[in-house]
Amino acid sequence: MEAVDLRHVPVVDNHCHGILRSQDFDDLASWRGAFTESTDPGMARDHVSTTAFYRRLIRTFASFFGCEPDEEAVLTARKKWDPTELTGELLRSANVETLLLDTGHPPPEEVLPMSELADLGSCRTEPMLRLEVMMERLLAEHDSLEEVKEALAAALDDVRARGYVALKSIAAYRTGLAIREWTDEEAQASLREYRRDSEEGRARLAHKPLLDTLLHVALAEAARQEVPVQFHVGYGDADTDLLFGNPLLLRAVLRRPDYRGMPVVLLHECYPYTREGGYLAAVYENVYLDLSYGIPLLGYGEMFSFTHQALGVAPISKLLYSSDGIGVPEIHWMSSIDGRHVLGQALEELVAYGELSIPEAEAAGESVLRGNAIRLYQLSPG
Ligand SMILES: [Zn+2]
Repeated sequence: MEAVDLRHVPVVDNHCHGILRSQDFDDLASWRGAFTESTDPGMARDHVSTTAFYRRLIRTFASFFGCEPDEEAVLTARKKWDPTELTGELLRSANVETLLLDTGHPPPEEVLPMSELADLGSCRTEPMLRLEVMMERLLAEHDSLEEVKEALAAALDDVRARGYVALKSIAAYRTGLAIREWTDEEAQASLREYRRDSEEGRARLAHKPLLDTLLHVALAEAARQEVPVQFHVGYGDADTDLLFGNPLLLRAVLRRPDYRGMPVVLLHECYPYTREGGYLAAVYENVYLDLSYGIPLLGYGEMFSFTHQALGVAPISKLLYSSDGIGVPEIHWMSSIDGRHVLGQALEELVAYGELSIPEAEAAGESVLRGNAIRLYQLSPG
């Protein structure tokens, strides 16, 4: 069969995070820790190095450095690089056109500034606003629920003029995706509980009636301005209760006629709920499905499988490439290599079935890797 070769296509990475200024990995376990969502110490020590993702990373990285494909050799070769220079080298080699960055995590003081990242990678960088971080700040600055809601609406009154291309919510991590309406009494009680918990330790907004109520303020603003909202869906760190991270739980939000102007981006292919996410993208005009090839940290076959599932149900115009890379540049970089390869192979399947011609498959690949994101986020042409 003829090949669908997407290697020359630049990527718009529609969801990723910043890269740490300090990347001193003094031992193997600390480096392996960058490639797991688990915080259990035994995972990095004993198990991460046996994942399909990690084995592929070692082989891919070894060929980049020209060293032996074992982790000691790769880490030794990596240590010879200044981390900032390595970041630039990997981003340029990934042929990144634009990075859309969730600026809420890691904290801005720990990562390379966006302008520096853009210079290093010869790419553009655009910020996205993480809602829960802003909500926690406003909860600290204002007393009553009414004041917090007003301050939130004011802070989000013109998202694009404030420089952001999208909003992002991690409600799935905190209280689940079944975002609903609460009475004022319930929201007030939830705020009081939040205040009590905050006195005891770091403020962490995981109080469902309060978070849902504030989310509705943000979603109304996003809908009014037709600004995309990214939702973390599915696979995440150990904070996530995957049972509450199913995208079908978003139905109450997706059904609301007054939210139809708000494009909703379901992140991380909703893994393992890719078919559910693809279905939502197929039935709701405003729902898009992100295909992330860095995190979740998967084997090649599983990446092929989710791509095949997404292409099998969702319109190609609804699919968006990302890496979800965070902390180290390896993930942003390897995701671009894998994403182009997997997507090309999965599109070849559609050609083999007579669903697409080769030129149509190539155009589809370009749409997923960059074109759809440029349109959706209204990115100005490079
Ligand atoms: Zn992310």
